[in-house]
Amino acid sequence: MIVVLKESRNDEQVSNLVDWIKSLGLDIHFIQGTHRTVMGLLGDTSLVDIDLVKALEFVEDVMRVQEPYKNANRKFHPEDSVIKVGNTTVGGGSLALIAGPCSVESEEQICEIAKSVKASGATMLRGGAFKPRTSPYAFQGLRKEGINLLLKAKKETGLPIVTEIMDISHIDLFDEVDVIQVGARNMQNFELLKELGKTNKPILLKRGLSSTISELLMSAEYIMAGGNENVILCERGIRTFETVTRNTLDLSCIPALRLATHLPIIIDPSHATGVAKFVPSMSHAAVAAGADGLIIEVHNDPAHALCDGAQSLTPSDYDKLTKQVSAIHSVVKNFD
Ligand code: PEP
Ligand code: MN
Repeated sequence: MIVVLKESRNDEQVSNLVDWIKSLGLDIHFIQGTHRTVMGLLGDTSLVDIDLVKALEFVEDVMRVQEPYKNANRKFHPEDSVIKVGNTTVGGGSLALIAGPCSVESEEQICEIAKSVKASGATMLRGGAFKPRTSPYAFQGLRKEGINLLLKAKKETGLPIVTEIMDISHIDLFDEVDVIQVGARNMQNFELLKELGKTNKPILLKRGLSSTISELLMSAEYIMAGGNENVILCERGIRTFETVTRNTLDLSCIPALRLATHLPIIIDPSHATGVAKFVPSMSHAAVAAGADGLIIEVHNDPAHALCDGAQSLTPSDYDKLTKQVSAIHSVVKNFD
């Protein structure tokens, strides 16, 4: 339930209302917008007499929220969330450009790629240290060493780093990681999400292989319900009957999510298509459709990559792409 307060109110009136709502066992989330103050009521709101609250002279409006996600709901938080990551931001009109290899393979590899993507305008470096591979015999990532190498690349370039967590028992290794990625396969690992909700780290939450938009939002809600509001949503393609592409990129999730939530939306055209040649056009389309950023796999030697070489751009392809998407972004950001 949402209670919109009038500008003409006094602190005592509000605190009496807060005490009464809390006495019903509900939690309150205050949202101070530029134009209005909203109280988001969390819990079993069937106990609240809506007409009674509406009748209060300092209350402008009261609305029931049907959706099961509250913290992630735009009704609770009308303005876009802007998530701060190091000295860059995600959401609120900027274009986040996250790039790097699927997996961290060596110091030379990650540092060389980091320098090249930075020169092309990337705002963050990605790289998997813990890899969720379909086969147990495939390269599983350099694990702790991979995170150390990412930190070296961060030191050399100043780029914030994004890397995937697969098990909460590894959380201590992520202390200096700027953005923790929850991969598609873990989108509904609710215990992991709950624990990440207790941290204040930005979380890049990828949509599950066969998850609906509502399920993605409910997973974001798990993190936010624990107190961590720094959630970035990521569409990375979903399973369909199509086999030409690795997955099917659901770009219509951008307007759908934009309406439903205030959280930033990032598109991953690399895992969505699985084909390097398809990545540029899908990136153009994503930015034109209003995405807040792109996460793209870039490798200095795609043919010999230990993971996902076929979908990885070369540094020069990436350089060309960042110029194109920046040009598209500068046009579409002025659209209503
Ligand atoms: C990745 O980003 O390298 C990855 C494994 O992505 P996803 O979870 O989307 O498959
Ligand atoms: Mn990958």
